[in-house]
Parts: sequence; C-alpha cells; structure tokens
Amino acid sequence: MNSGGTAADDPTVPATDAAPPSGASHSEPEPLLSVRGLEVVYDDVILALRGVDIDVDRGKVIALLGANGAGKTTLLRAVSGLRSFNHAKVRAGTVCFEGVDTTHSSTPSLVRAGLAQVMEGRRIFAELTVDENLRTGATTRKNRADVKATYDWVLSLFPKLAERRHSTAGYLSGGEQQMVAIGRALMAGPKLLLLDEPSLGLAPLIVQQIRDIIAQINGAGTSVLLVEQNAVMALSIAHYGYVIENGAIVRSGTGEALRNDSDIQEFYLGTGEQGRASFRELKLQYRAARNGESA
Ligand code: ATP
Repeated sequence: MNSGGTAADDPTVPATDAAPPSGASHSEPEPLLSVRGLEVVYDDVILALRGVDIDVDRGKVIALLGANGAGKTTLLRAVSGLRSFNHAKVRAGTVCFEGVDTTHSSTPSLVRAGLAQVMEGRRIFAELTVDENLRTGATTRKNRADVKATYDWVLSLFPKLAERRHSTAGYLSGGEQQMVAIGRALMAGPKLLLLDEPSLGLAPLIVQQIRDIIAQINGAGTSVLLVEQNAVMALSIAHYGYVIENGAIVRSGTGEALRNDSDIQEFYLGTGEQGRASFRELKLQYRAARNGESA
C-alpha cells in the first residue's frame, strides 16, 4: 500500500471549489488498482513488462517514471484494456480494479467501471469543437444531470476551454488540446484517471498549469496514475511513485522519498552530471566509484 501526504496538503497546490466527479471514495482499505506479477508481450516475442507490481490507493496521485521504451505506456495499456489494438498480450499476472480481476476486461467496460485514460499525444477529435470533444467523453453515462454537473466542473477547471468551447479543437494550442483531452476523460466520471505524459512537448508555464489541474482533479477525489518523463513535475504532486526500467519496477517510494533519492536526482531530476545513462548503469557507476574502481 502507498503512503504519504495528500496533494491537498501541499500549500503550492491551489484549492478548488468545484464539485467532485461522482464515485470517488476514500474509505475502503483495498487499493483502487492493484497490479501483480504482470508480464506483457508484443507479437508473442517482445517482453515489454516483467513481473510488474504496482498499487494505486484511493485518492492518491501515483507517478510512474521511466525513460523511453521502459514500458510505461504498455503498463497503462494493460490497465485500460488497450492491449489488442497494439498486439499486446498479458502473459502472466493480474490487474484488479476495485478488487475485481479486470486483466482481460475490455476498454468500454473499464470506462463504465470508472477508469479513463488520456493517451500520449493528446488524441482529440481535431475536426470537432471543444464542446463536442468533451461530450464524446460522456457517452457511457446515462444520467444527464450527472453529465451536466461534470461538464460544468470541467469548464470550471479549464476556463480557457469555457471561452473557446465553440472553437474547432484542431486550432487550439498544444496546451489547450491537452486540456481538451483531460477534460474529455473527466467527462466519463472516472474514479481513476490514467495520464500518459501530459507534459510532453509543452512549455514550462503550461506544464505548471497542467500540474496544478492534476492536483485539483485529485483534490476533488479522483485518483491519478501519472506516467511522466518529467520527473520534476510528477514528483511535485505524487504521493507515491514507481520507477520502471526495461519493463521492471526498479525503485518505489513516497513522492518525497523519491525526490530526495540521490539516484533519482541524478538520473531524472537533472541535478547530476552523469547524463542519461540507464538507471541500472548509474547504480553500477556509483557502486564502482564507492569501491574505488573507475566507472
Ligand atoms: P515512451 O516514453 O517512449 O513512450 P514507454 O516507457 O512508454 O516509452 P513502451 O511504449 O511501453 O515504453 O515500450 C516498451 C517496450 O515495448 C519497448 O521496447 C517498445 O519498443 C515495445 N513496444 C511498444 N509498443 C509496441 C508495439 N505496438 N509493438 C511492438 N513492440 C512495442
């Protein structure tokens, strides 16, 4: 189980007076999401995940850090049921959402169960307006009053989208398109939001805004699994985090512990001089240096 303070405890996280989306709860002890011993292969040959264990506790932001090709997106695909589109198969292990084995569940059933993903690269409907994009996120929901409440909440989170809701989404800036993608996922009323590299390609100021929005979403009760290469951003709001390399979890800890971890600082936070060697290589270099060998 994860631990650590909440994003709402963080004085740098703005509070929200927006209504929370339906369904979130903090009271049950079991993790909202629990992944155990997960192995995923592509095309029956490429082993992309090797015995991955992670938990997402209710009400928490969990960061998944890793370099290119480490297996972050594969893990999200396995959790959100997007395996078959990519010729990926679960070879071993389980994924449980709210205590139910969802290892082989379809994406639509997972969305109905309360899990929504924002894919890498802001895949919005470029030809549709902002308003139409947002509404496509709610197609699995029947209760129109709930959908209206979520729509109003999403527009309160993203005032820029409220201003531009009749604009064609394809003409928006990269940051605004990311907001549309997040807003559309929120329209499904998720208990767990999966975000795949939301900061990718965005200017630092926009990354900061996206980070604050994630904190607000979490503050309203939605759990978040945040996949990022931008460790500074991710660890500034994560209650707990995992580092994945070559398909295996190589380190985990509270957001604070990871922020203070010298290896993480060296490799992910850019405070060292080693450059981007692999996390494993870095550990070997440290070990060699400690033993007085040349790295
Ligand atoms: P990035 O940050 O570059 O997206 P990632 O950590 O998300 O990287 P994955 O995309 O999950 O990593 O890739 C993990 C491994 O699986 C890599 O070796 C990658 O080449 C491989 N892989 C990913 N998608 C496919 C696919 N559709 N078919 C075959 N191999 C794939």
